[in-house]
Amino acid sequence: MRKYVIMGVQGSGKGTQATMLAEDLDLVHISVGDIFRWNVQRHTKLGAQVRRTMVAGELVGDDLVEGVVGERLAEHDWNYGFIIDGFPRNRRQAEFFLESYDIDGVIHLDLPDSEVRRRVMARRLCSGCGMDYNLIANSPKIEGKCDVCGGELITREDDTEEALAVRLRDYHEKTNPVLDIFRRKEYVVTVDARPDPENIQQAIRNRLGLPPYIPGQDAEPDQPI
Ligand code: AMP
Repeated sequence: MRKYVIMGVQGSGKGTQATMLAEDLDLVHISVGDIFRWNVQRHTKLGAQVRRTMVAGELVGDDLVEGVVGERLAEHDWNYGFIIDGFPRNRRQAEFFLESYDIDGVIHLDLPDSEVRRRVMARRLCSGCGMDYNLIANSPKIEGKCDVCGGELITREDDTEEALAVRLRDYHEKTNPVLDIFRRKEYVVTVDARPDPENIQQAIRNRLGLPPYIPGQDAEPDQPI
């Protein structure tokens, strides 16, 4: 059983790397942002509670987030472990998490803010199946259409200059202290998030002492962002 946390500023490729690792090691990939987006798209009560906060690029309240994470992990469908992405994002969430779960490693994807801005502004999302695209590195075959389901590609509501500035500020203020908490427990491996996704995946595995990544072994990873 392996339990990992993956952290990094938006656009650092957390979702891509978590998916690659999860598919190969049979881990359950838990993305708090994806859970919220799913709820927003389906107009659930939770979606209505979080939508405005998300659009503004702000963090959703800790009680709500901890409830969602607690419920998701309580499903216990993670026989081989999990990789959690987008959580914890502040000191309180980290303490809540460490009270209930021991973790095997924290993967920290390191990306300079200038590169974040370039990537995030080029990010698109399929409105049908949720697949991620990037117009710099991985454009869809037909402009504006998802390669997988043909759905319309949209810009995430929170991928605006204004929301990005808020998220970057929050990240540096609130999420860096989380890394410090984990570092004290010697869990953290920091990996440069600028190379291509396969090299990043390889670096993560080397650092965590996991078997090497063999390209093409699994289903296609998410498109890199
Ligand atoms: P992400 O896809 O991880 O960038 O998350 C998208 C948005 O969901 C964030 O900008 C927040 O509004 C919200 N969110 C996701 N994870 C958390 C968290 N751990 N704490 C608070 N808000 C979160």
